Amino acid sequence: MNNNPNVQNFTHQPEQTPPPHPANQKYCKHCGQLIDVDCVVCPKCGKQVEELRRADAPIVINNTNTNNVSAYATARAAVGGYGRPKNKWVALALCLLTVCGHKFYEGKFGMGIIYLFTAGLFGIGWIMDIIALLMKPRIYYV
Ligand SMILES: [Zn+2]
Repeated sequence: MNNNPNVQNFTHQPEQTPPPHPANQKYCKHCGQLIDVDCVVCPKCGKQVEELRRADAPIVINNTNTNNVSAYATARAAVGGYGRPKNKWVALALCLLTVCGHKFYEGKFGMGIIYLFTAGLFGIGWIMDIIALLMKPRIYYV
């Protein structure tokens, strides 16, 4: 038999009355660990301890809207931003046939003149432009 009151007290107290804890913490109902009161999923055992609050729903909708806007902006940025629409195949044909024609087509007259007198930067700019044009969407923006 155990007659030591200290040992008995120590053995039984945690099960009956949990020690006081800070206001911003709580006990996980699955593993009993002290966790942050904001936790929806227990970081100790990984189980869900709180229902997802209804207040979160409007935030999710807002996020969806923001994502749509940013996805649209990303798509526009990917095709060259808010400029004049140009047809990839027209530019490519001009590039192949005249070396410098696509630069005039894109409104880059300075580069067009340079391409005209240097044969497309001695062929290097011409080749790179052909590759770049091939990788553009059918309609791109300059
Ligand atoms: Zn837990």
